[in-house]
Amino acid sequence: MNKPKIVILGAGYGGIITSKKLEKLLKSGEADVTLINKHEYHYITTQLHKTGAGTAADRQIAMEIPELINEQKTNFIKGSVTSVDVKKQAVYLEDGESVEYDYLLIALGFDIETFGIPGIKEHAFAIRSFRSTKAIYNQITRQLTQYKEDKDPSRLTFVVAGGGFTGVEMLGELAEGLPKLCKKYDVPYEEVKIVTVEAAPSVIPFFPKESIQYTTEVLEKFNINMYMSTKILECTPDKVVLENNIEIPTRTLIWSCGVKGNPIVQNCGLPVEKGKLPVDPYLRVKDTNNIFSIGDCSLFMKDEKNALPPTAQVALQEADVCAKNIVAALRGETLKAFEYHHKGSVASIGNFAAVGKVGNFRLSGLFAAFMKQVIEARYLLNLGGPSLIIKQHFGVSKEPVKVTANQ
Ligand SMILES: Cc1cc2nc3c(=O)[nH]c(=O)nc-3n(C[C@H](O)[C@H](O)[C@H](O)COP(=O)(O)OP(=O)(O)OC[C@H]3O[C@@H](n4cnc5c(N)ncnc54)[C@H](O)[C@@H]3O)c2cc1C
Repeated sequence: MNKPKIVILGAGYGGIITSKKLEKLLKSGEADVTLINKHEYHYITTQLHKTGAGTAADRQIAMEIPELINEQKTNFIKGSVTSVDVKKQAVYLEDGESVEYDYLLIALGFDIETFGIPGIKEHAFAIRSFRSTKAIYNQITRQLTQYKEDKDPSRLTFVVAGGGFTGVEMLGELAEGLPKLCKKYDVPYEEVKIVTVEAAPSVIPFFPKESIQYTTEVLEKFNINMYMSTKILECTPDKVVLENNIEIPTRTLIWSCGVKGNPIVQNCGLPVEKGKLPVDPYLRVKDTNNIFSIGDCSLFMKDEKNALPPTAQVALQEADVCAKNIVAALRGETLKAFEYHHKGSVASIGNFAAVGKVGNFRLSGLFAAFMKQVIEARYLLNLGGPSLIIKQHFGVSKEPVKVTANQ
């Protein structure tokens, strides 16, 4: 008898953890599992700002997928998914290959929301993937090099659009990383300007006012220029145009103003709402019984009006239930409804400060920075056990990661 085929699209937080859970849950020979990802590495999305600022080695952020999975139990295909044919139960890849499935998990993550602002798509640098944040780092070092030739101050102005969690993490990392880079490239750090632009009245506007105040003070200490309650109107190769006739000459706009579901979900012949795949309480895509979706590309309504946010925390909790439900579905057992338990969130502002909330406790300062490290370490533990934590912290190779796919 043919074994059921389980195919997982995307080896980000949701996809790779589901595949690892399936390795444990499935009996030997019970199903064939295939994991498809556009890169041969899995990257720690929540640490991408470090790649952008050059404050972490490539191998701390991006890890080879075959080293993370059990290749006897999970077949890994490096390939870029272009569409899904639900009737034929097949997934199509950019190179023309197709992969058949009986059970499918779509965990293709997010894409950047540009809100149609002119020039963002063409000229801004997005915090989106390992590759896109390597592009930020390369842009920074290129500007430092060229500044030495033409002394154009716009080369030393780095603008971060969006003062949410990701924007604040990027600012903190730039403030810590740029002095070292300036030293390396022999450029005076005093000439560097780091700027943030946020449409809301403050950074991390959804946080309690004490956290906002703390974050603002840390950013001020870092000499970051803050434009709050200000919208970006346009980005060109050498300036950013803001409301109120403000123009900032810069070659580097780092875009961190929101995400949407991966647009590939539109090519799956499945219902799409708000650019994402709506799922039922069992994480199955609406109107299907063999297609699941989790993470940033799925839409899970926690009540009538509100969907769960696109966070790693949601993707990881969903992965746990999704793996169990895929196994239950193929065994003809009852599926488990997903319930989300918010454990808190912490944003780093460089290495020595952070801000957030864990349970009922509001955190800030060095202790919060420590908690952030604990959260990241817990993920590595989940992903590859204690040996991965040790390897990532102490034995990481300095060899750069080769970036091959398009984004
Ligand atoms: C800088 C930053 C900091 C963040 N900090 C936090 C935080 O502190 N806490 C938190 O909870 N969340 C945080 N988030 C959000 C969190 O990272 C996402 O919610 C999480 O990564 C979603 O997981 P996912 O599995 O849905 O998608 P992803 O982790 O994005 O994985 C999607 C995978 O699909 C692959 N893929 C995409 N398209 C294709 C294709 N066509 N074919 C094949 N493969 C494809 C990608 O390469 C990727 O491996 C942060 C995000 C960023 C960018």
